[in-house]
Amino acid sequence: MDGRYEPVESPDETTVFPYHDLTPPTTADVARARKVVSRHLPETPLVRSETLSAALDADVYLKREDTLPTGAFKVRGGVNLVASLDPEFRERGLIAASSGNHGLSVAWAGREFDVPVTIGVPEKANAGKVAAMERLGADVVSYGPDYDTAREHIESLAVENGKRYVHSGNEPKLLSGVGTAGLEIVEELPEVDRLYCPIGGGTSAVGYCLTVGALTDADVVGVQSAAAPAMYRAYHEDTLEPHDRMETSAEGVATRVPFALTMGVLRDGLADLQLVSEDAIHESVARLFVEERIVMEGACGTSVAAALRAGDDIAGETVVIPVSGRNIDRAKLDAALADYDGVA
Ligand SMILES: *Cc1c(COP(=O)(O)O)cnc(C)c1O
Repeated sequence: MDGRYEPVESPDETTVFPYHDLTPPTTADVARARKVVSRHLPETPLVRSETLSAALDADVYLKREDTLPTGAFKVRGGVNLVASLDPEFRERGLIAASSGNHGLSVAWAGREFDVPVTIGVPEKANAGKVAAMERLGADVVSYGPDYDTAREHIESLAVENGKRYVHSGNEPKLLSGVGTAGLEIVEELPEVDRLYCPIGGGTSAVGYCLTVGALTDADVVGVQSAAAPAMYRAYHEDTLEPHDRMETSAEGVATRVPFALTMGVLRDGLADLQLVSEDAIHESVARLFVEERIVMEGACGTSVAAALRAGDDIAGETVVIPVSGRNIDRAKLDAALADYDGVA
């Protein structure tokens, strides 16, 4: 094999290959991605939340990314990346490591474009997400106790088999594809004042910074769990060091290693990056189910929790919260509901 399948020096603690062009995407790249994404995926509804609007005395809108076919926003990026895949990889296939929704995105896009897909998951991955990946035809490899162990295994497989390693953050095509959600918001609700975005690896926040942040007067505010604050620390302390703590139960925002490409955009693009507690996340998930019958993952509970905490500070504003995904593990939803003391 030639050097194309050997890792190159990485700007962060993750592995990148020579085909990872780490040039940050622009707003124009998102506009280009829109043409591709709109051929394969529907636009998602932007719906006023009556309960959150009343609670906050604000106009709160939910961007229903949970209505996409994989149940999460990431498929926008997968479609954009696989649509322009280098022909040499169409037969070799794609390989990725994922706790769930990134893998589902790559699996969905692989099926759409007829490219074989291998996904590495940690042994205790969300069973529903694993079953969904297999249903889409992906070859799922369970490996190791946590995401990073699975990721390292997949990265070494990519060196051996020459498949296209789809990194979960250092991929301009994923970022510009994911950004198409923000263009939809700009068109429908240009008066938006503030958007709260959950942050795991930071791809969706980059998408919103390049669109809602760049094209309107809105502030894009990132939110992480206090139990997994790697990107929070990267943003506030200007470092790309991995964090030693990652204890959130919300796997969509369970990041230990900050990514160079996303952080590079977020440093200037975000108005702020905040932390919320695990309790506040669980309460938000339960609240949206009880009050609106919306099923959301803990990952989006972060944004709801940050908006609720802001209280009077955002009264009178037009606020958008993406429902980034609905693939919550049944036991986690049950536990959040059992702890919730609001009335059903
Ligand atoms: C991946 C994910 C996030 C976090 O997105 P990043 O782009 O990794 O920051 C939030 N919510 C859900 C449901 C996710 O799957």
